[in-house]
Amino acid sequence: MKTHAKVVVIGGGVIGCSILFHLAKFGWTDIVLIERKELTAGSSWHAAGNVHAVNADANISALQAYTLNLFSEIQETSGQDIGLHLAGGINTAATQSRWEFLRAEAARHKVLGIKSELIGPDEIKKLCPIMDTSTIVGGLFDPKEGHLDPSGTTHAYAKAARTYGAEIYRHTKVEALAQRADGGWDVSTDKGIIVAEHVVNAAGLWAREVGAMAGVHLPLVPMEHHYLITEALQALEAMEREIPLILDLDGEMYLRQEGKGIQLGVYETPAKPWALDGTPWDYAEDELLVPELDRLTDALSVGFQRFPEVAAAGIKRIINGPFTFTPDGNPLVGPVPGVRNYWAACGVMAGFAQGGGVGLALAQWMINGEPEFDIFAMDVARYGDYATTDYVTEKSKEFYERRFRIAYPNETWPAARPLKTSPLYERQKDKAVFSVSYGLETPMYFSTDGTKPSETGSFRRSNAFPVVGEEARNVRENAGLFELTSFSKYEVTGPGAKAWLNWITACAVPNPGQARLAPMLSATGRLMGDLTIWALAEDRYMIFGSGYLQAWHMRWFANHMPAEGVHVRNCSDAYGGFSIAGPRSREILQRITGENLDNKAFSFMGVRLADVGFAPAIIGRLSVTGELGYEIVVPSAYVTALHDRLHEAGADLGLRDFGVYALMSLRLEKSFGIWSREFSRDYTALESGMSRFVAYDKPDFIGRDAALREKEANSPKRRLITLSIDTDDADCWGYEPIWYGDKMVGFTTSGGYGHCAGTSLAMGYLSTGAFDSQTPLEVHVLGDRRPARLLERCAIDPEGKKMRS
Ligand SMILES: Cc1cc2nc3c(=O)[nH]c(=O)nc-3n(C[C@H](O)[C@H](O)[C@H](O)COP(=O)(O)OP(=O)(O)OC[C@H]3O[C@@H](n4cnc5c(N)ncnc54)[C@H](O)[C@@H]3O)c2cc1C
Repeated sequence: MKTHAKVVVIGGGVIGCSILFHLAKFGWTDIVLIERKELTAGSSWHAAGNVHAVNADANISALQAYTLNLFSEIQETSGQDIGLHLAGGINTAATQSRWEFLRAEAARHKVLGIKSELIGPDEIKKLCPIMDTSTIVGGLFDPKEGHLDPSGTTHAYAKAARTYGAEIYRHTKVEALAQRADGGWDVSTDKGIIVAEHVVNAAGLWAREVGAMAGVHLPLVPMEHHYLITEALQALEAMEREIPLILDLDGEMYLRQEGKGIQLGVYETPAKPWALDGTPWDYAEDELLVPELDRLTDALSVGFQRFPEVAAAGIKRIINGPFTFTPDGNPLVGPVPGVRNYWAACGVMAGFAQGGGVGLALAQWMINGEPEFDIFAMDVARYGDYATTDYVTEKSKEFYERRFRIAYPNETWPAARPLKTSPLYERQKDKAVFSVSYGLETPMYFSTDGTKPSETGSFRRSNAFPVVGEEARNVRENAGLFELTSFSKYEVTGPGAKAWLNWITACAVPNPGQARLAPMLSATGRLMGDLTIWALAEDRYMIFGSGYLQAWHMRWFANHMPAEGVHVRNCSDAYGGFSIAGPRSREILQRITGENLDNKAFSFMGVRLADVGFAPAIIGRLSVTGELGYEIVVPSAYVTALHDRLHEAGADLGLRDFGVYALMSLRLEKSFGIWSREFSRDYTALESGMSRFVAYDKPDFIGRDAALREKEANSPKRRLITLSIDTDDADCWGYEPIWYGDKMVGFTTSGGYGHCAGTSLAMGYLSTGAFDSQTPLEVHVLGDRRPARLLERCAIDPEGKKMRS
């Protein structure tokens, strides 16, 4: 065994082997994989082996599609048969709601380059004669889906990695990890120590234990899962070709051909977490769990109705095996915050469908410093301290049980709630509908009559629509109050604070008393953040951003920190406050502060330290609504008192609370982008229009060279735009194609109704070309093409006079 390596990958399941393959293929040498038993000895060997492209997150779908395309390559490179059966896959719908979802999904696949098609029940019956399609509305067929041999596939990744020079040590257990002063690791195994520059935790069922070796808590939990194999079916024996993989979404099961029999799997309710106290080290590579048929009965009876011949066939084998889940079902990938050179690649629920994509993303990240795509949906830094063991168990169980349920975009599931609450929660809880952001209960909208509202889950406009309309209009006509507790807030102090901010952000850092929008770029010129900096003094700044990005931002800051002179504190929970916005906001705020709010004394983008009511506050003159407005930030302990004082001051001027939905409507009317939608690592400064905040003449900042190259070339392939859409009762959600005739010329990033503009709006990226407001564009809304008009200026107050008034 070597004594030194550049990378030690811990775990020889499909994920570890895929990472090893990608690192080796992209040219890293001196890389090893350590496996405590045989390859596949965790959950990989007993997987059902089904592979499909559909995922709720667009970029994860794209990475699953990448995985499907990779199989022939690893088979050829390794010479190892992977038992690939690409008979295609069909997601079926038995309800109108599910059909709507599939139609929307089909449109989204076009944006992602996935060649799927919608088919009717007759075609489904032709492809899968054993299915009773009498209640099926339709299906989404992807010819590239199917199934494979899990063991063959894992070995193919491993062999292909070896052909590129990687080494694998089997029957070697990593027992301890100790960080060295230079940031590397002493990897202690039962066969000796390897000194490694980087370690990758791909330990699957044991990822929690390998995390603990480095003091890391990883939010995942193993869950038991059953599937069964039947004896041969006559109908299949008579067929020459194979039936496709069926995801019967409303039947909540998956089914495919295995030989001339059937493999059928269900997501049992109640879900059963496994090994909550830790995965036993002696859990053997050929060990399965005892089947619990009583937990399958309900699900199976639905399956047997849909596939009557399966019910008649004898059961040959039942598999009950554990594999890991995270609270949202997506993997945990990337550099673990707070630990140098320790990479996560675990919590992967669909290792065969996602393994290629996870390997690609992690290898790019390790080699190039960043993955090529925005992979936030599977970034280990999307979770924070709130993801405790109990939270993870509850949420992962919930995800498992709802695996095939329709997840409406306006729905937040109930497990582990309420978890974190703002000081106002007790007074809001019976008057508002909440969603959750980074564990925090966040009001979406408030009832008009003080009773507890409840929103129906829907892909279309919900019952919240009229109430949200009232909230939004009240902001533009009078004044509204939006709670800022959910925003991330960071305090940057020290003699080196300004120089560091000038390095980490692409804008000119504001002078004391001023605020500025602050894009951050990566070295390749992709967006890394859309922050706002408030300068309080030469050596004291506040930074604001999206609340759910706290661990992600803090990791980026920590990775770009000078040795001394700057201190960054995440004070998101320590501070709360309000945005007061609307034409009457100045008058209301002036009633409770001694600070002169006159436009000349306190102009747009100004920042002041001032008392507001009883609270010592920081006030910034800006608003995401595009109205005259102020953001008032106070220590959290003052939030309730400040809320009271603001409402007392604004009662006669029409002040009322508004939630996230109204804010989203208001910002769309102003064409203001937000993170994870219009702005993400997928886009550059010029494409996104963030370039107007970039100080290209600054001597240096992260991403400067790439940003300058882009500016000089001045030929972005696409640009951020806003569309007004002619639609009835539904709006865009994001990733819908934009059409010019038969040509797809762009895609949406978000959509909603502009309650004050009186039109459905969507933002998105349009190929650069001769498009103007007269161009007859169309956009998919819930699977239907609708006429759309390019807005050359934003829908409300294009001159920006109101916010400067
Ligand atoms: C019943 C069932 C059906 C499934 N069906 C599908 C499906 O149809 N499609 C799909 O895509 N996925 C499916 N899966 C999920 C899939 O099996 C997992 O996503 C995948 O196996 C995860 O692979 P992994 O490499 O992350 O983890 P694992 O396979 O658990 O591998 C981790 C490896 O790390 C090794 N290891 C751990 N600790 C150490 C240490 N300290 N030192 C050295 N080595 C160590 C272990 O021995 C193990 O070999 C199914 C799973 C089950 C159980």
